[in-house]
Amino acid sequence: MNTHRDDGLDYLDIDPPQAGDLVEVAPGIHWVRMPLPLALDHINLWLLEDTDPADGSPTWTIIDTGMGTRLTKEIWRTLLEGPAAGRRPAQLIATHYHPDHCGLAGWLTQTYGLKFRMTEGEWMIASLLWRVPDEDYAGSQDRFFARYGIPDEVRTFHREKGNEYRNGVGHPPEGFEPVRNGGTLRIGGREWSVITCGGHTTDHACLYCPELDVLISGDQVLPQISPIISVWWYKEGLSPLPDYLDGLSRLRTLPAGTLVLPSHRQPFHGLHTRIDQLSQHHADRLDDLRRGFAAVSAMAASDAVKILFPRPLDAMNMLFAAGETIAHLEHLVRLGELEKDTPSNAAISYKATPSMPPHEDIKDSAEDIHF
Ligand SMILES: [Zn+2]
Repeated sequence: MNTHRDDGLDYLDIDPPQAGDLVEVAPGIHWVRMPLPLALDHINLWLLEDTDPADGSPTWTIIDTGMGTRLTKEIWRTLLEGPAAGRRPAQLIATHYHPDHCGLAGWLTQTYGLKFRMTEGEWMIASLLWRVPDEDYAGSQDRFFARYGIPDEVRTFHREKGNEYRNGVGHPPEGFEPVRNGGTLRIGGREWSVITCGGHTTDHACLYCPELDVLISGDQVLPQISPIISVWWYKEGLSPLPDYLDGLSRLRTLPAGTLVLPSHRQPFHGLHTRIDQLSQHHADRLDDLRRGFAAVSAMAASDAVKILFPRPLDAMNMLFAAGETIAHLEHLVRLGELEKDTPSNAAISYKATPSMPPHEDIKDSAEDIHF
């Protein structure tokens, strides 16, 4: 059933479903894939067999939607009118606000009359970001990245895009029913616990079914790639890395044998191993920065990006890399190892404090980041 690769995880030996098809990966849990117009070219969605409480008829609870594109809508129609037609779609749960996860939440809920559920934190940011006018979105983002020294050519690319969130997201649903950390959902006669995690987003929902020992991990735990942990213009002042690591340590209390259903790549066993790898990845990135600060007296975030992301980056990836770098810098500020200078007429710069431990050993990053 499982295949071993050299990263210490046991992957399910099942081919991913073709577009418009589904494949059962655990009792009553079906895997669906949607294409993404990104370097990471797909997202995994999950269809859970459920029952209408009123008349006992067979229904689907859907986890996540894919990006808000015409192609994704076509694939949903093919799926729901074809291989998934034996059940009525009744409920949609979105793990978090990112476009690949809830870009079609409004369309799906309206077209199929679904009940829509999300955490309050994710709902608030999705609804708010979608409504920000182009000039405000582009302007706030531009001023934020200018403060951190990101070059003008990168910022010009993004300024011209306006509200980049709305590019991948249709009109959000008119309302929602909240899911909460520690809450329980009954789906298909089984209990699912809601475990919310910060860091990747503010209030990302993971779902765990003790009876099946299955975790729908969203982007919180991915195999082979590390989800982006970043500071953005609309949450400047936060330090998301400790929130992310805290979420990982709470998920590590689940059984080691849990089947993990991630939003990208292949389902796998090896939750504890993967959590340890992700934690180590961030510890290594902090060490990379400490080493960088041993060599210079002060750095802007734009200089620190080159330490964490030494490869050439296009304007799109530069923005994500900058957000991720700022998150790691801000964590070192919280730890008292960096001091932040915020002049009104120049980029913010960071410099090491005497508390920063010396670091000589060099480790290369083994992880690709999922932006
Ligand atoms: Zn995400």
